[in-house]
Amino acid sequence: MRCLTLNASFEPLTLVPVRRALRLVIDGKAEIVEADGLRVVRSARLTVPRPAVIRLVRFVHVPRKFRRQVTNTFLFARDEYTCQFCGRPEAELGFRECLTRDHLVPLSRGGTNDWTNVITACSTCNTRKGNRLLYESGMHLRRMPLEPHFVYLTWAVRRLTSAQEKYIRLFYGEETLAQLRVL
Ligand SMILES: [Zn+2]
Repeated sequence: MRCLTLNASFEPLTLVPVRRALRLVIDGKAEIVEADGLRVVRSARLTVPRPAVIRLVRFVHVPRKFRRQVTNTFLFARDEYTCQFCGRPEAELGFRECLTRDHLVPLSRGGTNDWTNVITACSTCNTRKGNRLLYESGMHLRRMPLEPHFVYLTWAVRRLTSAQEKYIRLFYGEETLAQLRVL
């Protein structure tokens, strides 16, 4: 299990390994908001409840650029693990196929890694499109790529415990939490 880290404002930031969370607590940089039941972590000098949710003591400004980073994990989640050209989900791909990142405007032609320029494509469709622009390839997208909500990205691919969900609900509301649950 990982520990949910909240900003000083209670904004959920990220999940961190418990060891890292403990380090923040011991260094006085974070406080434990929710412990994981009665479990404790012992070291030579002290005994601390195992943290499930911690809150940073000082507010940390998270740059937008960091939040917008497009990793394949989030990209595939946004596109529901489905090739945006042929529409096949990951489960229907062949033995030698896999999901890949395709750039609508290829990197070699000045394309970027922004959310609106990257899509999930199976390796076969990606190879077929090659270095061409969409209209040159004659291929069609199932939907235009958009930048998803930050919250959706951060939590879509992770499992949360009920104690952690409470803080997502607190900050973003029940509706967001419900959306994450059905993913
Ligand atoms: Zn495909």
